[in-house]
Amino acid sequence: MRIVVLAGGIGGARFLVGVRAYAREVGADVTAVVNVGDDVRLHGLQICPDLDSVMYTLGGGADPERGWGRVGETWTVKDELAAYGAEPTWFGLGDRDIATHLVRTTMLNAGYPLSAVTEALCTRWQPGVRLLPATDDRLETHAVTDVDGQQRAIHFQEWWVRHRGAVPTHRFVFVGADAARPAPGVLDALAEADVVLLAPSNPVVSIAPILAVAQLREALVTNRAPVVGVSPIINGAPVRGMADRCLAVVGVPCDAAGVGALYGSRSAGGVLDAWLVDSTDADTEVPGVTVGAAPLWMTDETTTATMVRAALELV
Ligand code: GDP
Ligand code: CA
Repeated sequence: MRIVVLAGGIGGARFLVGVRAYAREVGADVTAVVNVGDDVRLHGLQICPDLDSVMYTLGGGADPERGWGRVGETWTVKDELAAYGAEPTWFGLGDRDIATHLVRTTMLNAGYPLSAVTEALCTRWQPGVRLLPATDDRLETHAVTDVDGQQRAIHFQEWWVRHRGAVPTHRFVFVGADAARPAPGVLDALAEADVVLLAPSNPVVSIAPILAVAQLREALVTNRAPVVGVSPIINGAPVRGMADRCLAVVGVPCDAAGVGALYGSRSAGGVLDAWLVDSTDADTEVPGVTVGAAPLWMTDETTTATMVRAALELV
């Protein structure tokens, strides 16, 4: 059995821990296609927040409390940069994390594509699943905001980390998406997949930028493998993070039905065959989509693996 998972950062990483556990039990093979819309170059370093969240979490190197970055992190470089007044100061760049960004940036500067760099980084972390960026091309999420009465597009990281999403925002734009091609391996993985899972990641800024790669979306929609989404919204609220702010920007109600409808039925131009919601949202309906319910709190590996099984049982 071959499973492909589309994933963002923290929610995607936690979900993949469960997918990996399930896959080990049944002998399945897992490929994660990860969002790159959050990627940003700061202080000369190429930073890939979602790929790193997944890689560190699956590799046992993530900080479980913060949810992002390295466990046992120190912040000497960040403090030193601030002492120089080097902008931006709002981004949390840890010392251990910087080593990853140094290796990545050196390889990218030498001409390796992000997919090859990710594979190289994973030889250290051994995540137990194949990690692929959605694309090797530049694809960046920007937020079109009003700052001092003026419309201005800012990088998603600035919107999220610096402004906590609390600025008037018109829309998100996936810069470069029109020209972006799926990274090597992505189309093959989708073609060979028995099932595709959408992790309970942020639908607007984690899953949407992946689906903004036209050929990737096309493959997802036209291939034989059924697509099952897992709701990141439980009982009308994101479990953590600010998905509610992102959903408000795109005018979608922050509930399991709203996100299910945003993805839409594969039979009607959307991407879903089935949609797994939390037990508290069991009455959710999405036109043209099989809806199932199960506890969706990803408290530990076993609980999450049970959730994955419930998702797969829907198709
Ligand atoms: P990010 O890129 O680091 O923001 O992470 P993702 O986009 O992959 O995931 C963020 C989403 O994960 C949030 O919108 C949360 O609603 C969702 N999430 C986090 N923990 C849980 C959980 O335990 N259960 C469910 N169903 N969703 C979760
Ligand atoms: Ca992210």
